Amino acid sequence: MAKAKVNKKMGAVSVELPECPVCMDVMSAPIFQCQSGHSICNSCTRILLPPICPICRQAMTQMRNWQLEELISKATVPCPNRSSGCVFTMVAMNMEDHLKECIFREMACPIGIVFGRCSWSGKLKDILDHFKERHSNNCYLNTDSEININNVSISVDERYMYLMPLGKFLFILTFKIDTCQKMAYWAVQHIGSKKAAQQYVYGVHIMSKQDDKRQVVFLDKCFNDAFDVNEVFRQARCGVMPLTMLSHFIKDGKLSFSFIVQRSQPNFKNKGKGHVTENNPKNKGPKVPGPQSASNQSRGKSPGPMHYHQQKGTKGGPHVFKNNKQ
Ligand SMILES: [Zn+2]
Ligand SMILES: [Zn+2]
Ligand SMILES: [Zn+2]
Ligand SMILES: [Zn+2]
Repeated sequence: MAKAKVNKKMGAVSVELPECPVCMDVMSAPIFQCQSGHSICNSCTRILLPPICPICRQAMTQMRNWQLEELISKATVPCPNRSSGCVFTMVAMNMEDHLKECIFREMACPIGIVFGRCSWSGKLKDILDHFKERHSNNCYLNTDSEININNVSISVDERYMYLMPLGKFLFILTFKIDTCQKMAYWAVQHIGSKKAAQQYVYGVHIMSKQDDKRQVVFLDKCFNDAFDVNEVFRQARCGVMPLTMLSHFIKDGKLSFSFIVQRSQPNFKNKGKGHVTENNPKNKGPKVPGPQSASNQSRGKSPGPMHYHQQKGTKGGPHVFKNNKQ
C-alpha cells in the first residue's frame, strides 16, 4: 500500500500514493475501513452492496482512515485523466479545480449543456468533429467570414453559440439577446485552463446592415469554459450593447458580426480600446483590428502597426487569423 518513501519538498509531500485495492485508482477521501482494517476508496465504498469488504469479506465500518486521508491531502497526485494524456500533477485538494478545466476530461457537448438538444459527451479532441457532424451551423471555421443571423428581434430572448478552432485550441463564442436586461452580450470562452484562457484576447466586430459606416468593435480577454458564461454576462465582463443600440445594426431581421481570437500582446492594451481604426490598405472593409498574431514576430523588437491579416514571412507560430485556410 502506501509507500513511505516521503520527500519533503517545500512543505508538500512527494509520495507514491496508495491505490484503492478494489478499483486501483488513487485513494480519495473519505476513506473507510473494514472490520479488519482494509481501506477502500470513497467511490468504491459507496457502491458496495452489501457493505462487505471485497478483500476479506468482513463488514465495512464507518471508521475513517484519517492518517491516510491527511497524507493524501498533502501529497502530489497525478491527474486521474493521466491515461488519456494529462501530465498534470497537483496537491489532492486542488484536484477538483483542475478537473473542471482538465482538457483530457470527459466533456459534455456545449450545445447540449446550454440548449439540452444533444447528449453527446467525449474528449476535447473529438468536439470539433462532433460539431462538424451534428452542429455544422454552430461552427465558426472561417474567421474571415461574418456570422449572419436571420430573424433577430430585440424583443425575443435568443442565444447563439459557435465553436471556433484556433490551431489545436477551441473557443466557444456566445451571443445572447436578453430582453429582461435589455442588453445584447458577446463573449468568448477558451476550452482549457484559466491560465491559458487569459492569454487570449477576442474581438467582436458588429457591422450595421443599415449604414456601413456604423460599426462597433469590442476587445476583451477570454474566460475559460469552467467559468459560467451566464456569470460573465451578469457581470457584463464581455461585449455588451443596449438592445436599443443593437436595433440600429439589424435590418429586416438580419444581424452580422464577426469574431476573432488571438494571443494577447503587450501592445494590444494601448491600442485596442473601444473603436479602433484600421488603415491596412489590404482591407478595404472594416475588420476587427488586431496585432499580427501569436507569431515569433510578435516577440521581436517593434511590434509595428496592427494588422488584421498576418504578415508575410511569419514562421513557426500558429497562424491565428486565417488558420482555417492552412
Ligand atoms: Zn476504489
Ligand atoms: Zn477487509
Ligand atoms: Zn488533467
Ligand atoms: Zn452536440
